[in-house]
Amino acid sequence: MLMVANDRARAWVEVDLDALRANFETVRARAGGAGVIAMVKADSYGIGAERVVTAIEPLEPLAYGVATAAEGAQVRALGIERPIIVFSPLPPDSVELAAAARLTATLSDLGGVARWAEAAKRHGRLDAHLEIDTGMGRAGFDFREVGTWADRLQEGLGPSVRLRGVYTHLHSADAVDPTPTLTQWQRFQDALAQLPFSREDLLVHVCNSAGIMRWPELAADAVRPGIYLYGGNPAPGVGGFEPPRPVVSVRARVVRIKDAPPGSTVGYGSLHTARGWERWATLPLGYGDGWPRCLTGRSEAIIHGQRVRFIGRTSMDMTVVDISSVPDVKVGDVATVIGSDGAETISIEEVAAQADTISYEILTGLRPRLPRLERYT
Ligand SMILES: *Cc1c(COP(=O)(O)O)cnc(C)c1O
Repeated sequence: MLMVANDRARAWVEVDLDALRANFETVRARAGGAGVIAMVKADSYGIGAERVVTAIEPLEPLAYGVATAAEGAQVRALGIERPIIVFSPLPPDSVELAAAARLTATLSDLGGVARWAEAAKRHGRLDAHLEIDTGMGRAGFDFREVGTWADRLQEGLGPSVRLRGVYTHLHSADAVDPTPTLTQWQRFQDALAQLPFSREDLLVHVCNSAGIMRWPELAADAVRPGIYLYGGNPAPGVGGFEPPRPVVSVRARVVRIKDAPPGSTVGYGSLHTARGWERWATLPLGYGDGWPRCLTGRSEAIIHGQRVRFIGRTSMDMTVVDISSVPDVKVGDVATVIGSDGAETISIEEVAAQADTISYEILTGLRPRLPRLERYT
């Protein structure tokens, strides 16, 4: 018989679905009547798309947002009837899968329009949203050239593609300076005014999480929250909105304790040497779990409600913390590297800052080796 270790045997990710739902409601209230397109791309930012969609579905989002045809097909396969919008230009070889799953494509250029219209001839009517590039520069029709593409776009859609929405994406909604956001908004409005489509027939949307929280007046017909749902602060250090409730915790069991005599070294390159007697605890968590190697010497963990320092280099499967100041730690005790234990909390933003990145990359970087467990509050 195959023996399977329990999910909390080694290291794991805890997901608080009540907090996720509360964050969804905070977004909805903030967006004041606009629809909510729940962004569930990248396996719901690493949290698990099936779990997230199942939790959110009863709250009646307007639609789901994904980045790839395969992600969209996975959501569709859960029995979801709502629109599922692919918010990246579809690679030509993904069009068939997207059409078969009845996903909504986002249109960025006339070639993409032609491919989607072609697919619609084979699959029957298909939906699309039009992206307008107002400065993000990675997708969408150029706001400056509406005159050159709008009529050809309309023709290209043909009878089988229904244009259901139009949107742009903000590049600096998290910045203190409002100028870039207001400039993009104005460019978008100018482009909208030139489109040969009736505004009433189109769902207009602009805001990601930072946009919704900082510029609720730009919520338009719908908003597209991602990171906020998952407990990431979309504009760290910039106030003016209710921070999200934390959704994700990362924990690991102590697997070894060592009383290290002076001169003992730890980790590749022996970056740390014990000056006096130290007590070290090994955690079964490393970059093979998505705990970034660049956190070496920077991050902390919480054990028995007390913060402890990581020492030595993060390796693939293990890291070591100095527990000299924490009495009575035993093998099997739980260390928290993201989340709360007692009065101490390590936020995703704290870890992200130490790793010179953003919460998004920390979350999506957590590897499948860490089981995702639901936590009830
Ligand atoms: C990922 C994404 C979002 C969500 O962004 P957050 O900052 O996570 O809220 C919204 N819109 C588009 C087009 C995206 O690609």
